[in-house]
Amino acid sequence: MRPRTESTRLFAEARQLFPGGVNSPVRAFKAVGGDPVFIARGHGAWITDVDGNDYVDYILSWGPLLLGHAQVDVTRAIATTAAEGTTFGAPNPLEVELGRLVRRMMPSLEKLRFVNSGTEATMSALRLARAATGRARIVKFAGCYHGHADMLLVQAGSGVATLGLPDSPGVPGPTAADTLVAHYNDIAAVQALFAEHGAIIAAVIVEPVVGNMGVVPPVPGFLEALREVTRAHGALLIFDEVMTGFRVHRGGAQALYGVQPDLTCLGKVIGGGLPVGAFGGRAALLDQIAPAGPVYQAGTLSGNPLAMAAGIATLTRIAESDAWERAATAAERLETILVEAAKRHCVPLTVQRVGAMLTPFFRDQPVHSWDEASMQDRDGFARWFRGMLEAGVHWVPSAFESAFTSAEHGERELAHTAAACDKAFAAVGR
Ligand code: PLP
Repeated sequence: MRPRTESTRLFAEARQLFPGGVNSPVRAFKAVGGDPVFIARGHGAWITDVDGNDYVDYILSWGPLLLGHAQVDVTRAIATTAAEGTTFGAPNPLEVELGRLVRRMMPSLEKLRFVNSGTEATMSALRLARAATGRARIVKFAGCYHGHADMLLVQAGSGVATLGLPDSPGVPGPTAADTLVAHYNDIAAVQALFAEHGAIIAAVIVEPVVGNMGVVPPVPGFLEALREVTRAHGALLIFDEVMTGFRVHRGGAQALYGVQPDLTCLGKVIGGGLPVGAFGGRAALLDQIAPAGPVYQAGTLSGNPLAMAAGIATLTRIAESDAWERAATAAERLETILVEAAKRHCVPLTVQRVGAMLTPFFRDQPVHSWDEASMQDRDGFARWFRGMLEAGVHWVPSAFESAFTSAEHGERELAHTAAACDKAFAAVGR
């Protein structure tokens, strides 16, 4: 590995320009030590930093790149579309094509609206839920992250927790007070909240498989119970599938577990690496959004042809090829690599995986909730992370995050990762 002199120089300059030197907090290596690496380019499963070091990438821009970096169908679609104009602020045919494709892959989205990020999707879905029910309160789960809108920045998982911030200053008390928090996978706690506040709860919002405390799947019956309790009290169930959508299964967590929410939020994979989010659900609900109905929501760049083209190219491949299976198989093999390497070096580790996302928790017990996720060897993780980086693997720089695989993580990448794991786990015990 060459010295990262150019990364170091750029980070020094970036610190003068951006808070903490980054444009999104978890990119800074605060939880793992050292300075972030500046990336010059990526192809397939590999990225190259500005000093010429190569890494196998398991961040994949925090999830979107299920097909890998610079996938040829996606880059061709972007280039062809850009040559004809990137945005019109008027309807364009690619919106209709991507809308149709999303609805085919997730039929619970009878109607949807495109936005530009996952944060926009969740805040808009909650506005709609509040308008549709005429109620103010929402229920979320400790450790679930739904973007950085005020009412959702309460016990919000990875990014906030990694920095050790409680709830963000600047979130008004009354806004946060309308957000009730329960423990993930604890249905009795949700039922108790409904028993007390059921008449004023607009919605439950949940990551159906949590990615933002590390990967935590729902225990059997949890999602079904949320479906039941919301329906019984006239509240809406919102699945935040920004991370899980097209990643835990082609049809998202709702297809994997067979539970249909009232509203779904999407992001990441849906844009194929360009900024796209969406929220959708039953047609009668979505028809309350302006201009069909009174609930205001808008966006200058929403549905722009460039982003739609990247989304269409990505989802088409996921729908019509074995790309998803390849990404999930890579994650399954990675799980085995991690488990075996940890065992060889006597490091307590529990790997949790659903489809093409996984987390190695540095503890010897499974994780069902935020409390359990926080009980792990964070220093051990940080040493392991630094070992992996030195050995040419770009892992997520936090013990509370999911790592991601792509269809391009094949034999060579996994062999490289296995060799790196041996060195990195050896460093944990030292
Ligand atoms: N919801 C979930 C489950 C996420 O993981 C994220 C981002 O990581 C968001 C919402 C917010 O999406 P964005 O960063 O595109 O605003």
